[in-house]
Amino acid sequence: MGRVTLHIVHNHHAPDTTSHGDTWRDHAVCAKPDITRPNAMFPDNDAVDLELARGICASCPVKAMCLLDALETEQGRGTGNRHGVRAGRTPKQRHSLYMRSLRERIPFEDLVDEVLFRDPLREAFERRTESLEGGHVRWTIRKTAVHVQGQRYTPWQLAFHLSRGRRAAGTIRTTCGQERCVAPDHIVDAAERGNGRRAAA
Ligand code: SF4
Repeated sequence: MGRVTLHIVHNHHAPDTTSHGDTWRDHAVCAKPDITRPNAMFPDNDAVDLELARGICASCPVKAMCLLDALETEQGRGTGNRHGVRAGRTPKQRHSLYMRSLRERIPFEDLVDEVLFRDPLREAFERRTESLEGGHVRWTIRKTAVHVQGQRYTPWQLAFHLSRGRRAAGTIRTTCGQERCVAPDHIVDAAERGNGRRAAA
């Protein structure tokens, strides 16, 4: 799906799939009782239920409008006031996206376009991570490798490739002291360590 025409109806708790006339909500997969059981989009902390909710969103034709609506209506609320899975994103992940839009001054529409349609590496990373205090980032799933467009990545390789635009050379190390942090700016590969040593000499 390419860029979409957006007809946003504001709501306060997600996902509100009540029909408001001819809107994107009428096409929401999670609003179809024959497909989606009640509360399916509110998996709490159950990993299996979370993956089921993400699977529902993956097949949803209006996920771009849904994510844009979430970004617009949830705005500066903390993670505790965001509810349910929307467009495959948890409340924490949506909060991270919102903070990124502020930090990097990216319009919501462009952010939605990017994470859903343009950048599979970023999508793979953001779906499986959450931001922590101090700029650290945590890998949230048990699997320690994922495949994106046929390539295998560890969380650190994924973070590195995403931020540098190339695969890491040699071993990737964290620089922040936080065990298992995968923040792209808290990791370096062997080439960057070598450059740092040469610059210091
Ligand atoms: S993307 Fe997910 S939460 Fe949003 S309308 Fe579609 S199924 Fe519902």
